[in-house]
Amino acid sequence: MAFTKKTVRDIDVDGKKVLMRVDFNVPLKDGVVTDNTRIRAAIPTIQYLKEHNAGIILMSHLGRPKGDGPEPALTLKPAAEKLAELTGYDVKFVADTYGDEAAEACAAVKPGDILVLENVRFLKAEKKNDPEVAKKFASYADIFVLDAFGTAHRAQGSVVGAAEYIPAVAGFLLEKEVDTLTGIFADPERPFVAVVGGSKVSSKIGVLENLIESANTLIIGGGMAYTFFLAKGYSVGKSLQEPDWIERAGEMLKKAEEKGCQILLPIDNIVADHFGEDAEGVVVASDAIPDDMMGMDIGPETEKLYCDAVKGAKTVFWNGPMGVFEIEQFAHGTQAVAEAIADSDCTSIIGGGDSVAAINKFGLASKMSWISTGGGASMELVEGKALPGVEALLDA
Ligand code: ADP
Ligand code: MG
Repeated sequence: MAFTKKTVRDIDVDGKKVLMRVDFNVPLKDGVVTDNTRIRAAIPTIQYLKEHNAGIILMSHLGRPKGDGPEPALTLKPAAEKLAELTGYDVKFVADTYGDEAAEACAAVKPGDILVLENVRFLKAEKKNDPEVAKKFASYADIFVLDAFGTAHRAQGSVVGAAEYIPAVAGFLLEKEVDTLTGIFADPERPFVAVVGGSKVSSKIGVLENLIESANTLIIGGGMAYTFFLAKGYSVGKSLQEPDWIERAGEMLKKAEEKGCQILLPIDNIVADHFGEDAEGVVVASDAIPDDMMGMDIGPETEKLYCDAVKGAKTVFWNGPMGVFEIEQFAHGTQAVAEAIADSDCTSIIGGGDSVAAINKFGLASKMSWISTGGGASMELVEGKALPGVEALLDA
C-alpha cells in the first residue's frame, strides 16, 4: 500500500519527451565515478521509458557547487558516461542546464534518445525553486518524472518546479523507497524490531518517537544510549551526552511503555579512557561506567540480547551504528547486530548514511532486503513527514 501517487506506469509516455530528476550525486575521484550505486538505482525507470519509446532528458545535482556558474570538478559528464557504460545505451551530454544550448539539445531529443543535462546546482536560483527555473524545466518536456529519492525532501526547482506546469509522476526507485519506508508503519509483518543507534538523540528524536508508534521492540545503541542512561539516573562518565535532551528522552521511554513498545537499552558497554584508534576497551555494566571513561560500543551481553531480538523478528528497520564502528576495536557490536539481521529471515530495511557505510564495510549489503539510497529523505519519511517532491506528483 502506502504509495498514493501516479508512476510512469500510469501515464502514456509513447513518443513523449520526459524530463526526469535523478539522483546522480555520486562520489568522484579525478573525474571518475567511484561508487555507481545511485546511477544503477535509476536504471529500471530509464530502461522502462526507453522501452516505451519516450525521449529521455535526465537532470541531477552533484556535490555542493557555489551556484555562480560551471565548476569543472562537479560536472555531470562522468555520471553520463557511467550510465552509458552500465546500460550499453547511447547517452548524450550537454554542458548546459538553463541556456540556449540546453534548450536546443532538449528540442532535438527523439523517442529513445537519452540526454543528460549539466549539474542543476550551477545556478543558485535552483535551490530556491525560482518560478523562472521551474518554467524553464517544464519547457523542455511533456512529462516530468521524479526518481531522485535522495533529494525528494527538498522543495527545489529541479525536484518540484516542473510539476506545477506539466504532468508529474514517480519513477520506480521513488515508489519503492516510499513504499518500503512507509510500509513499516502501515502493516509490517510482526514482530517488528527497530534498531536505532548513531551519535545523537537530538538528530534522531523524530525517528524514535515515530518508531514507537509501530515497532514491537525498539533497540537503542550508539552514543545516543548515554543520554537515555542519564534519563534513567545512571552516570555516564565522559560518554557522548546531550543534557538538554535528557527530559525528552525520559518522556519517550514513558510513552513507549504506554504504547506497549518494548525498549531495549545496553546492559553492558565497551568503554575507553579516550577517543582514538589506540584506545583500549574494557567491559563495564551500564550502571557502573567510571567517571573517567567513555562508552564506545555495546558490550557482549548486550550484543547477545540485541542479536536474539533481531533473530526473532519478521521485520527489522535499522538506522545508526551501535558504536564507533570506524575504529576496529569498537566495531564489534555494530557488526554482530548487522550479521544477525543479515542471517535472520526477516524483511530488513536499512537507512542512514553511516549505517549503509557500515553494512558495505562488513560486506553484508546483498543479504539485506532494502538499503535506502536516501539519507535525509529516508529519515524524514521515518519521522512521518511528507516529502515535498512526492507531494507535488499527480495523485493515483
Ligand atoms: P546514520 O548516518 O546511519 O544515520 P549517525 O550519523 O546518526 O548514523 O551516527 C553515526 C556516527 O555515530 C558514527 O560516526 C559513529 O562513530 C557514531 N557513534 C556511534 N556510537 C558512538 C559512541 N558510543 N560515541 C560516540 N560516537 C558514536
Ligand atoms: Mg550520519
